[in-house]
Amino acid sequence: MPRRVLILGGTSDGRALAELLRSRSGPSDSVVSSLAGRVRSPRLPPGEVRIGGFGGIAGLVAYLREQAVTHVVDATHPFAAGMTAHAAAACAQTAVPLTILRRPGWTAQPGDRWHRVSSLAAAAEVLPDLGSRAFLTTGRQDLAAFAGLDLWFLVRSVDPPDPPVPARMHSILARGPFTVDGETALLRKHAVDVLVTKDSGGADTAAKLTAARALGVPVVMVDRPPLPPGVPVVATPAEAVARL
Ligand code: NAP
Repeated sequence: MPRRVLILGGTSDGRALAELLRSRSGPSDSVVSSLAGRVRSPRLPPGEVRIGGFGGIAGLVAYLREQAVTHVVDATHPFAAGMTAHAAAACAQTAVPLTILRRPGWTAQPGDRWHRVSSLAAAAEVLPDLGSRAFLTTGRQDLAAFAGLDLWFLVRSVDPPDPPVPARMHSILARGPFTVDGETALLRKHAVDVLVTKDSGGADTAAKLTAARALGVPVVMVDRPPLPPGVPVVATPAEAVARL
C-alpha cells in the first residue's frame, strides 16, 4: 500500500524529517509538510508543502481522509500545544498512526541560574525580582504577558512583534542559529540582566544560555506544555523514520 506521510512542521526537525523521508521513499510513497503560515517568509521544507490551518479537529479529520494520509508525524514546536492536541484527536478518530517528534528540552549546567516557571504569566510575575533589563526570546506572539511590566525589554523575533507590547522595548528581527560570541556581545551591548526563554530545546537557539551562564545572567525558563497521553514520542528525525 502506498504510504502518504503528513508532517506537521514549522521546525528545523520537521524540515530535516521531510528531507530524510524524501531520500528514502519508494516511487509510490509521498510526503507532505504542513505549515501554519505564521512566518512571512518561512524556511520551506523540501517536497510538497501546504500552508494554513486545517480548521480545527474536524478540518484535520477531513484532510486526512481526503488525502488518504497513512501516517502523521507531529514535528511542531514544543509550545504549539493546540496543533498537537488536534493531531492527537484527529488521528484517534481516523485510526491514522501518529508519532510526535519532539527534541529534548534543555538541561541546566553548573553555573546556570535558571528559574523554571510553568507559563509566560508566571515568567512575568518573577521577572521584576530578577532584573530590570530583560531579553525576551519567547516569540512575537507572546509579548502580551509582559506588556504591563515597567522593565526595559530587548525583544528578538523572526517577524515584528504583535501588540500589545511593553512600553519600553527595543525590537530586533533575527532568525537562528545564533553563536555564543554573537549572543554574548548582544547581552553586553544592551546590558541585559535577565533572559526569558521557552524551553524549546535544540542547538540553534542554545547559545544564549551559554552566554547567560558566562555572564552570570539569570534565566527564566518557561516549561513545556504537557504532551497528549498515549502518543509515541521520538527525539530525532532519524528515530521518526525508523518508526515509520
Ligand atoms: P498552535 O497554537 O498549536 O496552533 C494554533 C492553530 O494554528 C492550530 O489549531 C492550527 O489551526 C494552526 N496550525 C499550527 N501549526 C500548524 C501546522 N504545522 N500546519 C497547519 N496548521 C497549523 O501553534 P502556534 O504556537 O501558533 O505555532 C504555529 C506554528 O509555528 C507551528 O507549526 C509551530 O511548529 C511553529 N512554531 C511555533 C513556535 C511557538 O513558540 N509556539 C515557535 C516556532 C515555531 P487549525 O485549528 O485551523 O488547524
